[in-house]
Amino acid sequence: MVKNKIYKIVILGPPASGKGTQATFLAERLNIPSISVGQILRDEVEKESECGKMVKDQMKSGGLVSNAIVNKLVRKRLEQPDCQRGFVFDGFPRIMIQAKYLDTLIKITHVLEIAVSDQEVINRLSGRRTCPRCGRVYHLKFNPPKKDELCDDCQVKLEIREDDTEQAIRRRLKIYHQETEEVVGYYREKGLLIRINGEQSIEDVRAEIFNKLNLN
Ligand code: AMP
Repeated sequence: MVKNKIYKIVILGPPASGKGTQATFLAERLNIPSISVGQILRDEVEKESECGKMVKDQMKSGGLVSNAIVNKLVRKRLEQPDCQRGFVFDGFPRIMIQAKYLDTLIKITHVLEIAVSDQEVINRLSGRRTCPRCGRVYHLKFNPPKKDELCDDCQVKLEIREDDTEQAIRRRLKIYHQETEEVVGYYREKGLLIRINGEQSIEDVRAEIFNKLNLN
């Protein structure tokens, strides 16, 4: 069944809900790309490209990057041949304008909402570390790297993301409640939404997702 079916998945959830981690599991299982707009933007900042310079400050403060920039990046990414077999979006769309724009490009087949309380988000962010090279996310307590604070894949020293400060995280949470929950409701009305309890171990969240998508 998985062989013939094309999965065009969106994962929504507050910061640190595990979207990136679960997107990676799905991408591996289904052999499709996982697309993190946040990671594409961080790469642009790292490269100090024109786009990177434009978005740097906004990202650091935890605010959203302009729709014009994000929508263009997404359109270009979806044109890549590897997206023909499906894809997993991690953190896009975040506001209604983006959701409506996505509708003009492609038909999404499943939307996962990883539900996590604000308190849990704040607890988790204290230990979060990211690989500056590949973007893989770790947690010192819940999902530690194998060795010291080095990425398992790249052996590069893990870093604290610039927008994981308390002030930035509060802003990101506020945006989630004010903007992204409307997107969650939009997909619920379309009958595409699958709600996942994000307050379980990483493995149990994975199992719930795979069960609900009939991927076992
Ligand atoms: P993430 O890695 O998904 O937590 O995203 C990190 C940051 O990238 C966000 O706080 C925003 O500044 C920016 N970003 C990521 N996705 C979007 C989006 N869909 N729309 C606007 N800004 C975004």
